[in-house]
Amino acid sequence: MRKILVVGAGQSGLQLALGLQSHGYEVTLMSNRTADEIRSGRVMSTQCMFDTALQHERDLQLNFWESQAPKIEGLGVSVAAPGSHDPGPTQRAIDWVGRLDGYAQSVDQRVKMAGWMETFEQRGGQLVIHGAAVGDLDYFSRTYDLVLVSAGKGELVQMFARDPGRSPYSEPQRALAVAYVHGVGPRPEHPDYDAVRSNLVPGVGELFVMPTLTTSGRADILFLEGVPGGPLDVFNGVKDPSEHLSLTLELMKKFVPWEYARAMKAELTDAGGVLSGRYAPTVRNPVGRLPSGGLVLGVADVVVANDPITGQGANSASKCAAAYLASILDHGEKEFDEEWMLGTFDRYWEMAQHVTKWTNAMLAPPPEHVLNLMGAAGELQPVANRFANAFDNPADFENFFYEPEKTQAYLGSVAGA
Ligand SMILES: Cc1cc2nc3c(=O)[nH]c(=O)nc-3n(C[C@H](O)[C@H](O)[C@H](O)COP(=O)(O)OP(=O)(O)OC[C@H]3O[C@@H](n4cnc5c(N)ncnc54)[C@H](O)[C@@H]3O)c2cc1C
Repeated sequence: MRKILVVGAGQSGLQLALGLQSHGYEVTLMSNRTADEIRSGRVMSTQCMFDTALQHERDLQLNFWESQAPKIEGLGVSVAAPGSHDPGPTQRAIDWVGRLDGYAQSVDQRVKMAGWMETFEQRGGQLVIHGAAVGDLDYFSRTYDLVLVSAGKGELVQMFARDPGRSPYSEPQRALAVAYVHGVGPRPEHPDYDAVRSNLVPGVGELFVMPTLTTSGRADILFLEGVPGGPLDVFNGVKDPSEHLSLTLELMKKFVPWEYARAMKAELTDAGGVLSGRYAPTVRNPVGRLPSGGLVLGVADVVVANDPITGQGANSASKCAAAYLASILDHGEKEFDEEWMLGTFDRYWEMAQHVTKWTNAMLAPPPEHVLNLMGAAGELQPVANRFANAFDNPADFENFFYEPEKTQAYLGSVAGA
């Protein structure tokens, strides 16, 4: 049977390793941390995944936490009215919630990756705890039929050249600050169901609030995305988790008081429940060339790392793992050469290009027709629903989001109906 090395045990690496394992491949998984270190470590994401990505997990029977994780049935958008945060905001220019056709879920990656890693080992997979360097891959590329690099945004990305034509930004576009908390109440508009709430403060940044399943059960995540150099970009150097939470709540009170109102009693889930940082969204060439001439294929964030403003990276990682798994199975016993690697990535890029285009658009100030579209969603429920469901299928934004004419035609058709 064919031997495959997967380097990096995140959403894509574990999903691929477990998928290949279930098809009888001899898989070695290399992780720089043990399951226990991941479980007791720091949070890594907010990892809200929509129905299509969740279905890939269900297809592999890896949806171990589906019955425990909160079901996210809606996606809401609130936009602060201009100047409303100065001196104290109360106003929302836009405020609606769209209903998702299939529910979304967020399972703390500490829970999921640790659990999947243990399952991989229990099923006879070979797990190597080691932070792989290029030299290691050089050696292993000679002993494995295929080496997949799914090491996220870590140092190994340097093996994959940046694709400037697909990477419009060379600097981070948001400063990120995440806090996992207990004690957040429901949004008063829909106390009977959960939704991801996106709160946009023009020129300042965004706040996302969403429920999750973490190591201590159900919790909510407060996730600030600050325009660099702006008033939300203040988490650099904040090391104390309680200080991180106080700062988050202070900023919420000032800029998104309607969310602060339900979060003011929030308490951190655990000392590892905070995260801050930033990175530049980057698309890379999918094939890495090793010093001895061997080739490796990049997976998910290694090759397409978008800003989390649209909550797509884990969804894309799941879709990438599913696309690569199908491509590996289709290829049978043939050699995994460069042509196959490029074709495999293209299969993924078919989908990922839409995520990249949309995410990069959301990082820029919205043009007038997009503001009109978001405003119309408050009046027309089908528009809110369409917008919400496009988080599951970002290709749909092509039909009504980018071009003013298409937006107008779409809104006209809904209003007419
Ligand atoms: C703040 C924040 C919020 C986010 N929110 C969402 C969201 O709501 N929805 C969504 O879909 N996406 C979200 N994302 C993005 C999502 O988390 C990532 O895109 C996704 O986890 C990428 O999966 P991956 O498999 O490519 O890499 P990762 O999940 O990053 O996994 C890579 C793994 O490789 C390991 N590794 C690194 N280097 C090495 C090495 N040299 N050797 C061995 N192992 C190594 C790492 O420790 C890690 O375990 C968010 C990201 C951030 C930062």
